[in-house]
Amino acid sequence: MSVKKLFWDEPYLTKTSANVKNVDAQKVTLDQTIIYAFSGGQQSDSGKIGEYEVLEAKKEGLEIVYTLPEHHTIQTGQEVQITIDWEKRYRIMKLHFAAEIILELMYQNYNHPEKIGANITSEKARIDFYWNGNISETFQVVEKKANEMIQADLEIESEFEHEKNQRRYWEIKGFGKVPCGGTHIRRTSEIGAIKLKRNNIGGGKERIEIYLV
Ligand SMILES: [Zn+2]
Repeated sequence: MSVKKLFWDEPYLTKTSANVKNVDAQKVTLDQTIIYAFSGGQQSDSGKIGEYEVLEAKKEGLEIVYTLPEHHTIQTGQEVQITIDWEKRYRIMKLHFAAEIILELMYQNYNHPEKIGANITSEKARIDFYWNGNISETFQVVEKKANEMIQADLEIESEFEHEKNQRRYWEIKGFGKVPCGGTHIRRTSEIGAIKLKRNNIGGGKERIEIYLV
């Protein structure tokens, strides 16, 4: 059975215990986890398994494989404490949801422009679009609307669409329902406020960068 991903139903959990399912040299799998692995543009968490810093968290199908330092002593069947760098994760969660709101506002207000890619770190989020012209012309609308939604303290539901396939979605009633397997905040007000920046990446592509302020 693949690892139970506690970061979905309990995205605010910073510490838990788990059993080690398998150890293959530096690669370790667990029965349950709170350490998110890069997926859907969301950066991996920083975290520890036992006393060891996770060097890499990698999604492999529905499994997550963690890489530990070379001389770790973690063994199969062992119970371990796992922790995450909460400050980093919480910034990622805020920026992730800010990006969700901006993307949805772009779709709703600008005739569903084609998204090329997205990336979310603890420093900033970015979304790239095919776009003719200067995308910052939209900021007066989308930045304003996004900050209004943040101030309105709207409830965000996150649930399984298909539990077996581990497909998730988030929903804000009256605004949107969007598939996503990332970790989500519970209320829009947690974001605080955001600022947008344009980056012309060339070739008819424009980038929106999102910062917490
Ligand atoms: Zn999401």
